[in-house]
Amino acid sequence: MNLDYPITYIKGISVQRATLLYKELGIKSCNDLLNFFPFRYIDKTKFYQIKELQPNTSEVQIVGKITHVKSVAQKRGSRLVATFQDDSGSMELVWFKGQKWIKDSLKINQPYVVYGKLNHFNGSFSIPHPELELVKEYKKKLQTKMQPVYPSTEKLTNAGVSNKLMRTYIQNLLQQVYDGIQESLSTKIIDDFKLIHKRDALLNAHFPKSQEYLAKAQYRLKFEELFFIQLQLVRKKLINKTKIKGFVFDHVGECFNNFYNNHLPFQLTNAQKRVLKEIRKDVGSGAHMNRLLQGDVGSGKTIVALLTMLLAIDNGFQATIMAPTEILATQHFNAISELLQETTITVQLLTGSSKTKKRRAIHEALENGSLHILIGTHALLEDKVKFQNLGIAIIDEQHRFGVKQRAKLWSKNSLPPHILVMTATPIPRTLAMSVYGDLDISVIDELPPGRKEVKTVHRFDSNRLSVFKFLKDEIVKGRQVYVVYPLIQESEAMDYKDLMDGYESISREFPSPNYQISIVHGKMKPADKEYEMQRFVKGETQIMVATTVIEVGVNVPNASVMVIESAERFGLSQLHQLRGRVGRGADQSYCILLSSYKLSEEAKTRLKTMTATSDGFKIAEVDLKLRGPGNIMGTQQSGVLNLKIADVVKDTNILVVARNTAIDLLQEDPNLSKKENILINKAFAKMSSSSKIWSNIS
Ligand code: ADP
Ligand code: MG
Repeated sequence: MNLDYPITYIKGISVQRATLLYKELGIKSCNDLLNFFPFRYIDKTKFYQIKELQPNTSEVQIVGKITHVKSVAQKRGSRLVATFQDDSGSMELVWFKGQKWIKDSLKINQPYVVYGKLNHFNGSFSIPHPELELVKEYKKKLQTKMQPVYPSTEKLTNAGVSNKLMRTYIQNLLQQVYDGIQESLSTKIIDDFKLIHKRDALLNAHFPKSQEYLAKAQYRLKFEELFFIQLQLVRKKLINKTKIKGFVFDHVGECFNNFYNNHLPFQLTNAQKRVLKEIRKDVGSGAHMNRLLQGDVGSGKTIVALLTMLLAIDNGFQATIMAPTEILATQHFNAISELLQETTITVQLLTGSSKTKKRRAIHEALENGSLHILIGTHALLEDKVKFQNLGIAIIDEQHRFGVKQRAKLWSKNSLPPHILVMTATPIPRTLAMSVYGDLDISVIDELPPGRKEVKTVHRFDSNRLSVFKFLKDEIVKGRQVYVVYPLIQESEAMDYKDLMDGYESISREFPSPNYQISIVHGKMKPADKEYEMQRFVKGETQIMVATTVIEVGVNVPNASVMVIESAERFGLSQLHQLRGRVGRGADQSYCILLSSYKLSEEAKTRLKTMTATSDGFKIAEVDLKLRGPGNIMGTQQSGVLNLKIADVVKDTNILVVARNTAIDLLQEDPNLSKKENILINKAFAKMSSSSKIWSNIS
C-alpha cells in the first residue's frame, strides 16, 4: 500500500472518522498517521519493588500478595482496602466502586501482578482501582509490554476515538505497510551512527519492545527528521553560494580607507573586526551574500553596517539601511551623517513623514547615482524608490519585517543586492541552525570596552516611593530616566489608561519647573513623537515616560535608569531590549523591574533571569525553554519548527550531528547523484516537492 493513500485505506477507518482525524489532528494520509507519535508510553516492562517506590513515580507494576481485605467507612459510602505485600514492604490497593464484586473475586495470599497509578498520601503508597492479574494467568499470555499513549482532543474522545482505538488503527496500518517501508538513509550513515532500519524504528516508536528499543527508534527518527531538514537548508545555502551571482566588492578604496584611518571614533572590537572580515570575504567572492548579523544591544552593529556600505561605495554601488521605525531610522541617519560629516559621501533619510519635495529630490538623486546611502523605513519599499545600482541592503531588527517586504527590496535591481540582516535579538545557536540554516551567521559577541554592566533589581509595586526617591537622586546627578509601560495589543485601551495614570502620578511626584517629562506612545503622530524624543535626546527633559515604542534602538548615553512598570507582563527578549537602552554612557546604569506581588512561576523565572545575567544569548536560551521555539521572534512562519518527533530545544545534540552529516554529504555529493546515496536522493526529492520550509530572508 502506498503511504500517500488517505487513511480510509486502513482497516477500520471510516470516511467519517477520517474526516474527524483530519480536522482534529491534521492526519490525512497513511504517512501522516505513521508519523503521529505517542507522547508517552505505559511501561509494563519494569517491575517495581514496594520499597523502591517514590512519591513522583506515576504508573507502576508490582508482583505481590494480598494479605488482608477490609471495608472502610468514609463520609459518603465506603471504600474497599486491600493490604498488598511483597518481600520488600507493603502498601494498599483501594476501590471505591464495584466493591462487593471485587471483594468476592480477590484471592488472598496468591501472587498477583498489580498495575496502576501510584498515589502517595501521608507517607504511604496506594493504587486506586488497580489492574490485577494472577501471576499464573499473566504468564500464559503474550504481553504488550509498552503501550503507546497518543495525543488526543476532546472531540475525538467524545466521538469514541479512544487511545485504544488509535492504537488499533496504527497497529492495522503497520500490519498493512510494514514490509513496504523503504529505508531513506544510506548504508554509510546507518553504519556510522548505528541506526536501526526505518521500518523497525517506526514500529518501535509506536509499539516498543523495550525502553532500549524505544530509545533507538526515537534516535533514528529524530536524526532522520533533522537530517532531511538540514539537508534542504544546507543545500539551499550552497546553491545560493554557487548559483546566485552577487556584485563583487573586491576593491578597498578611498571611502573605506579614509574613514577607517581618519574618522573612526574608536578602535573596533575584535568581534567587530572578525565580522567585518566575514562580510568582506562574502562580498568579495562574486557570490551573493545573505548574512545574518547577531549582536546584543550596544555591541556596535551600526559601525559594521557603515563600513560595509563604504566598501560598496568604493566599488561604485549605492547602499541602503532599512529600519522598522521612524525613530530608529532617524537615529541611524543622525549617527551615520555625523560619522560621515567630514567626508564627501552623501546620506539621506526617507520615511513616511518625508515631505513631497524632499522625496522627489531623493528619488532623483537615487536614480542619477549622486546619492550614496539611503536610510529609511518601509517607505523605501515604495515603487517610486529606484536605485541606480543598489549594491547592499542592510536590514535592522529583521524580525519586524515580513518575508514579502524583504523580497521587495531584492527586486529593486538586475542582480540581487547583498543582504545583511542585523538583529539585536540573539537567537540560540541551535535554533538559528534550524530557522536560519540556509543563511550565514555572524555574531558580535563582545561589547565595546569600558561598558559597565547595568545593575538590575526587582522591586514590588509597594516600593515605588523609594524607587522615585532613587530617580530623584540620579536626576540630581544630571542623569536621565526612562519609565516604560507595557503596551500589549489585546488590551490596548487599558494599557493606554495605565500609561496615562502613570504619567499623571509621575508628573505629581516630579513637578515642573524642577523636572521636565517627555511622553511617547504609539497613538501619537510621528511628528509629535519625534518632538518629544528630541527633547529627551537633547536633555531638555529628564524623564521619558513611554510605551515600548522606545524598545528599538533609541540611543541616549546620558540616560542611566530604566524603570519597567508591570515588568511581569513583558517577555524576556523585550525586557532585555529595554534594558539595553541604558548603560550606553560612562556612568553606572540601573534597571528597575517593578511588578505586583502576584507572579506566575514563569514571570518569576523571567525576572530572576534578568537580575542574574545580562548576556543576551543566555537570556535567549531561557526564553526558548520557557516559551518554546515557536514563540521566539516570529519563527512560527518557519515550517522548520513543525517537527513530528524531534524537539528543537531538547534534541540539540542530534541536531548538530544531523547538520554536520548533511554538510559532509553535500560536500562529497552535492547533487546526491552517487549510487550509494540513491535512497537519500529519493526521500529528499519527495520531501522537497511537498515542503515549504524555506526561511527565506530574501
Ligand atoms: P547596536 O549594536 O545596539 O546597534 P550601536 O552600533 O548603536 O549598537 O553602538 C552602541 C554604541 O557603542 C554607540 O554609541 C557606538 O558609537 C559605540 N561603539 C560601537 N563600537 C564601539 C567600539 N568598538 N568602541 C567603542 N564604542 C563603540
Ligand atoms: Mg542598533
